[in-house]
Amino acid sequence: MNLHEYQGKSILKSFGVAIQEGLVAETAEAAYSVAEKLAVDTGTEWFVVKAQIHAGGRGKGAVIETGSHGVVLAKGLDKVKGVASGILGGHLVTAQTSSEGKMVNKVLVAQDVYYPGETEPEEYYVSVLLDRSSGKNIIMYSPEGGMDIEAVAEKTPELIYTETIDPGAGLQGFQARRIAFNLGLSGQAYKQMIKFIFKLYDAYIGCDASMFEINPVLKTSDNKVIAVDAKVSLDDNALFRHPVYEAMRDKTEEDPTELEADEIGLSYVKLDGNVGCMVNGAGLAMATMDIIKLSGGEPANFLDVGGTADASRVEQAFRIILKDPSVKAILVNIFGGIVRCDRVAQGVVDAYLNMGNIDVPIIVRLQGTNATEAKKLIDESGLKVTSVILLQEAADAVAAVVA
Ligand code: GDP
Ligand code: MN
Repeated sequence: MNLHEYQGKSILKSFGVAIQEGLVAETAEAAYSVAEKLAVDTGTEWFVVKAQIHAGGRGKGAVIETGSHGVVLAKGLDKVKGVASGILGGHLVTAQTSSEGKMVNKVLVAQDVYYPGETEPEEYYVSVLLDRSSGKNIIMYSPEGGMDIEAVAEKTPELIYTETIDPGAGLQGFQARRIAFNLGLSGQAYKQMIKFIFKLYDAYIGCDASMFEINPVLKTSDNKVIAVDAKVSLDDNALFRHPVYEAMRDKTEEDPTELEADEIGLSYVKLDGNVGCMVNGAGLAMATMDIIKLSGGEPANFLDVGGTADASRVEQAFRIILKDPSVKAILVNIFGGIVRCDRVAQGVVDAYLNMGNIDVPIIVRLQGTNATEAKKLIDESGLKVTSVILLQEAADAVAAVVA
């Protein structure tokens, strides 16, 4: 599950990480009043108003309706309302969104932390994430923060450093010191960065995250080290341990069909292709997607119906798949081990008749217990359903449809 910047920052703060202070608002009027409050609490006179969407690159992104950007300075309390109304309710297009952009429902009004002082403010990149190849958490960091980290990785990969954390020992002092050193810090800022890294790692571990990306981490002109941005992903499988974080889920940011599938307990991931698939078991689902690709099609989704492929389940799955208008055919691939193929076949027939309006070709491959009975049942149903037993036959049938 991904979080908004303001939510990520509230978690960071609760673990003692220094952040750019801010308050969230849903209307321009509310933005003004939270700015007033922030002025009292922090002594801030300049503010930055930041669109809250689940996508990065907001600073450079543009709001379609107004031409404003996703991160805008408001130099004075009297500017906050105008700036916020140029962002709220608009669609923000960034390098990470579609061309339609994402609707902005909330803005974070934060203190401007780039004030002039004894030194120049400096931006760094720091992230904590799971490195799946080593099976360990790593801290990735770069002195080239603030801008597009992908561009840094491409042009100057030597400026991206990695620290691998031993899961038994945890983050060590020498590692935090090496990070602060490689970032080019000294004196007070060096000490602050070490503290920042330790607290950040605590936050990452403490909320079962899979990523905490802070870009930029700012060294202020008076040598404080603070998180200016926060991109946080939490591990869905651990959310049950964190009801407070689970409640942070913003359903408006998620694919509506995926949400619906989640509510009825189907594992469904929408993809961009034209052949829908309904499969029992995640491994078989992956193999089925491969078959679709080899046959010249592109999978429109990943869908694992799980162990109970009965009529109502099959119908629910058909309904989910058919919400996607780019689906040109559906491949049902069920292995009947514990579940008998003829029962699944009956489920397919019942669901088909019950729905009444399926007009895309359906290819059903049932293999396993009672596969021949299942094929007979479908063949004799008189429905526009092609029934096959072998995987190759299924592939050929898909190829015929997508050709
Ligand atoms: P992103 O573009 O979605 O990654 O959003 P960020 O929160 O990282 O903000 C983008 C950029 O806005 C940062 O890299 C900063 O350069 C700038 N920015 C953010 N906060 C402030 C601020 O308080 N003052 C000023 N002057 N610039 C800011
Ligand atoms: Mn950023």
